[in-house]
Amino acid sequence: MTRIAVVGGGLAGCLLACVLAQRGEEVVVYERRPDPRTGTAERGRSINLALSERGLNALRRVGLEQQVLTDGLPMRGRMIHPVTGPLDFQPYSADGERAINSISRGALNNVLLDAAEKSPTVQLRFEHRLVELDPETGALVFETPRGRVHAEAGVVFGTDGAGSAVRGELVRHGVTSETLDFLDYGYKELSIPPRDGDFALEPRALHIWPRGRSMMIALPNPDRSFTCTLFWPNSGTSAFASLSSPAAVERFFAEHYPDVPPLAPGLVDDYQHNPVGLLGTVRCAPWHSGRVCLLGDAAHAIVPFYGQGANCAFEDVTVLERCLDNTGGDWTRALRLFEDSRRDDTEAIARMALANFIEMRDKVASPAFRLGRHLEHTLERLLPGRYVSRYELVSFSTVPYAEVQRRVRRQHGLLTAAGIGLSAALAGGLAGLRGRR
Ligand SMILES: Cc1cc2nc3c(=O)[nH]c(=O)nc-3n(C[C@H](O)[C@H](O)[C@H](O)COP(=O)(O)OP(=O)(O)OC[C@H]3O[C@@H](n4cnc5c(N)ncnc54)[C@H](O)[C@@H]3O)c2cc1C
Repeated sequence: MTRIAVVGGGLAGCLLACVLAQRGEEVVVYERRPDPRTGTAERGRSINLALSERGLNALRRVGLEQQVLTDGLPMRGRMIHPVTGPLDFQPYSADGERAINSISRGALNNVLLDAAEKSPTVQLRFEHRLVELDPETGALVFETPRGRVHAEAGVVFGTDGAGSAVRGELVRHGVTSETLDFLDYGYKELSIPPRDGDFALEPRALHIWPRGRSMMIALPNPDRSFTCTLFWPNSGTSAFASLSSPAAVERFFAEHYPDVPPLAPGLVDDYQHNPVGLLGTVRCAPWHSGRVCLLGDAAHAIVPFYGQGANCAFEDVTVLERCLDNTGGDWTRALRLFEDSRRDDTEAIARMALANFIEMRDKVASPAFRLGRHLEHTLERLLPGRYVSRYELVSFSTVPYAEVQRRVRRQHGLLTAAGIGLSAALAGGLAGLRGRR
């Protein structure tokens, strides 16, 4: 019997295998896909992501942070593209120095696979798709190119992503219940290639085209291209399906994203051939039975608008490690503690990610938003460590997500009180002046 089976050799699964191997555990990672280090990427499927402090902190613990950052591109702020008028750069931090990092998802997965493979106690089994799991006994059945394969494990982790088969099996056996809230929006990727061998847009920024009901973002890649992601409604006049001919695509972009067509010669081809991905929030409970545990997107997939899904999945691994330390390696207690200590935080980031969609598509271009950010950065400079914006706490710290929400509420409460106090003092002062006249 295998001691630990990790189902899903994506981002969380590989990091988990590395961490468990560091603790001397024997681990087998089962991955549905062929070895991605020998194949080609799937067309139009999120090729880069923003990695920030929580993810980096987890990678640091297994000595991989620097290797991963070598190919990362720091993005120090948002670059807003209005329909007309100049671009507007909004730094993420008060000092303008802190950056989130654009990382190739495939390269990150490959670094983690290499690291897991180097551990003498980790085995990787590709082309193993989990199809059955008995949560009581830890019996597993995989479909492989050579037919069905049976295995058994003392502890099973489901790190098989938002559409988790492990979660499906926990639900089928009555252990777990789940809700999947799909957003009424999908995403499609487009590419902006290098221009004259260089980046066609500013590479030190995350680019946003906020358009009210919809938006597009672009992140730089090490090959000097940009990957753009359109987040559009699934129905209505600005839905993907509403643009059914090349001419309609060209007309629409010329009207709503006029700076894009000159930079994206493959726009129509990308648009017509790249798939539309689903977006949604997964909630389920419990995440664990005595010996099976969900982790990462399998337990709590979120919408991507805070750039935190992978960061949160990596942070899960750090939290699990702490739970194992605190329970002396007692798996049943550790899995329970993991869920108890992590659930509120994953619910908090799920809420913040949904709220950030509205901010990104509707608010970032408004003068009121810009003024608010300016005020926040001024307060951060005046009250260092005492006033910290939500974005900073989420992206540049490891303060638990639920504590971030509480702290931001407290800060807003104090600011409102200070605002009321200031208004009252001003009103009193004015009345006094009038009385003296
Ligand atoms: C458009 C978009 C943009 C995003 N941008 C960001 C971002 O900027 N920053 C960020 O932090 N996050 C981002 N995310 C979220 C991030 O991609 C996920 O949160 C992260 O990949 C979760 O990691 P995971 O290991 O839990 O799941 P996955 O990365 O989905 O890995 C799951 C693995 O399990 C395998 N698998 C699936 N089913 C089976 C099976 N039955 N048997 C065996 N193996 C199986 C899969 O092949 C895969 O390798 C984004 C997501 C999307 C959709």
